[in-house]
Amino acid sequence: MGLLVVGLTAFPVFRGPQEHRGHGCCLSGSHMVRRLSVRSPRLQRARRPPPSAPPTTAPMDSPSPPPPPPYPPAAAEGGPAADSQAAELPRLTVTQVEQMKVEAKVGEIYRVLFGNAPNANSLMLELWREQHVEYLTRGLKHLGPSFHVLDANRPWLCYWIIHALALLDEIPDDVEDDIVDFLSRCQDKDGGYGGGPGQLPHLATTYAAVNTLVTIGSERALSSGQPVQVHASDERYIGSFQVASLVNILDGELAKGVKPMKVALLGNRMLKLMGWVAFRQGVECGFQGRTNKLVDGCYSFWQGAALALTQKLMTVVDEQLKSSYSSKRPPGDDACGTSSSTEAAYYAKFGFDFIEKSNQIGPLFHNIALQQYILLCAQVLDGGLRDKPGKNRDHYHSCYCLSGLSVSQYSAMVDSDACPLPQHVLGPYSNLLEPIHPLYNVVLDKYHTAYEFFSS
Ligand SMILES: [Zn+2]
Repeated sequence: MGLLVVGLTAFPVFRGPQEHRGHGCCLSGSHMVRRLSVRSPRLQRARRPPPSAPPTTAPMDSPSPPPPPPYPPAAAEGGPAADSQAAELPRLTVTQVEQMKVEAKVGEIYRVLFGNAPNANSLMLELWREQHVEYLTRGLKHLGPSFHVLDANRPWLCYWIIHALALLDEIPDDVEDDIVDFLSRCQDKDGGYGGGPGQLPHLATTYAAVNTLVTIGSERALSSGQPVQVHASDERYIGSFQVASLVNILDGELAKGVKPMKVALLGNRMLKLMGWVAFRQGVECGFQGRTNKLVDGCYSFWQGAALALTQKLMTVVDEQLKSSYSSKRPPGDDACGTSSSTEAAYYAKFGFDFIEKSNQIGPLFHNIALQQYILLCAQVLDGGLRDKPGKNRDHYHSCYCLSGLSVSQYSAMVDSDACPLPQHVLGPYSNLLEPIHPLYNVVLDKYHTAYEFFSS
């Protein structure tokens, strides 16, 4: 069969020693921290929240996009002259110089947007659906020879592409059976999925394979994923609750030894988490992975979804605090509302109950600003999405930029099944993607179908 995953043979995408090599690279990147000396006042603005970013616990949506960042200094404009000027600034770290170059490129794009007439803006802010579908579908059928570096990540390629197409509501029918067949060849006889046929199974590729099958969502696909087994005692599967809950095998036995956190402590930690993640959204309007990293489109999901999860968890914590008070017990005594008798049922339904909760607070990041970064800085004209201006598109960034776009479009919604108002969708309303379950990063409808299938 001619599916991408069968004959990986090229490499147009993940290039450069400092750039991503597939999933997880962005989380572990630690380039450019060669520190020289930090005294220039211009560094003070190298990383700060968007100009109009309100406090972290307040709703951050706004009907109009934020203005471009302040005009960058000449040395940050890029090009050979700027490089030589930058070289004369020994007090800047490499990261700081790169940061200024990124701000200059992004600022240039945003200045065009703010100089346009409103109707031209709508055109500029359009999601190029057809081009993305074409790029992604092509990736399912053929990848060039250099993709051999991703030979141990083939279920990931299936997931990145299929999930991105599902967000666009454009999964082609004619590839579903090929993908199910291919993934069944990656499945280990003892459970779990490897990175390719005959490869050792492990959690990361199992997660990718299960998410792919859930996203395809046919009975054949879901039946194929059903035999997945997760052994809590097996170190290959440490941290496997997400996969286990998705296929409805997470029970008290699997969660044995897990101590739920006290509600009061959980609430306190969540506030710190919120503050830290919210301040990872910078003047470019996108997210960075951590302090001293450059903005990157894939963090639209990694950070945006972390805040979407926190937004819902705040409701859970609030409910449990109230129930603790009403039962006259100190809040710390009732950990996560589970007793040993209800533990199994609690774990089994956690993902489902979680998404059903209403949001009691608004978005915890500037959701319009994030959409602006994705639409203007991460889209590639020929289809596909990228890390930042100047980088190449790839399937990984296409998946997580679109996932982040969906999270930001729906982040102002109180209920997960509601439709966003036009003012929460930047650009034409046709930009609206399918909503996701932020715990799994699968399209919400697909999650519900799988939930029913695995519950029955
Ligand atoms: Zn990235």
